[in-house]
Amino acid sequence: MYCKRCGKQIEDGSTFCPFCGSPLNGDSVPAADVQQVNPNDSGSMGWAVLGFFCTLAGFILWLVWMNDRPKCAKMAGLGAIAGVLFGTAVSFIVMAVVLSNFDFQSVGNILAML
Ligand SMILES: [Zn+2]
Repeated sequence: MYCKRCGKQIEDGSTFCPFCGSPLNGDSVPAADVQQVNPNDSGSMGWAVLGFFCTLAGFILWLVWMNDRPKCAKMAGLGAIAGVLFGTAVSFIVMAVVLSNFDFQSVGNILAML
């Protein structure tokens, strides 16, 4: 087969021309599909970390990006959910530790002295 763009002979079944780099089965990949992928939508782990430590920001980014940057939105949302679960778990653990060490009698003595 021959490249439509530069006309050089290339291997059958190639997806890209090795000479000019143009996509060869351009008909099967409409330009509209390529444009739909937002180059900023990297889905970076950084957004999950941000959502984890700043849950509110994570949820806001998730809502804002849901359509434009679905990968980033997903990461931010997952981070926020993880942050909520982690925060809740830590709260329960702290409460359990505090309650198990809670000495009701000494508190009663302190209150009696007041
Ligand atoms: Zn070519």
